[in-house]
Amino acid sequence: MDPVERLKNGFEQFKTEVYEKKPDLFAPLKEGQWPKFMVFACADSRVCPSVTLGFEPGEAFTIRNIANMVPPYDKTKYSGIGSAIEYAVIHLKVENIVVIGHSKCGGIKGLMTFPYDGKNATDFIEDWVKIGFPAREKVQADHGSKSLDEQCAICEKEAVKVSLENLKTYPFVTEGLEKGTLKIIGAHYDFVNGAFEIVA
Ligand SMILES: [Zn+2]
Repeated sequence: MDPVERLKNGFEQFKTEVYEKKPDLFAPLKEGQWPKFMVFACADSRVCPSVTLGFEPGEAFTIRNIANMVPPYDKTKYSGIGSAIEYAVIHLKVENIVVIGHSKCGGIKGLMTFPYDGKNATDFIEDWVKIGFPAREKVQADHGSKSLDEQCAICEKEAVKVSLENLKTYPFVTEGLEKGTLKIIGAHYDFVNGAFEIVA
């Protein structure tokens, strides 16, 4: 299929079947956005949260990256993520930040299997998923006798918990948690079994 045709057809379908049929939804969004959720999800093509959780346009301010990682507060290394969290919390005043892991995550498999012997084989991936290193260490210590697949499945959830802890290193997040204006939620979507679970 021609990629440009695919894009054009996709938009035409959206316009006639969604955009034109829901003026009450789209008209206010011309003036601004008031999402209640900020969502971290994996870039994996199978886990779009608008599809799996039914988020409407305007409902979820979404960051997708390899293995749905939230890095710790670091102005020099992670400004792309930091600026999104800052904007969502301070300006959009989202009420919930949700981090959603998923089954068969390639980024988590990488985290569990990269040697981390000081010689990176990738330009970016090893360094990025290393954000979840505390999860890898916990899984190896507590579940070292399990198969790699089982370890990865556990790590998918443990890495979400690491990201939730990392969220607390952002002062505006901590302030929202203390004031009660912000909640942080960890979740896991299993597309093999069709399950969605709150993990923290
Ligand atoms: Zn993934």
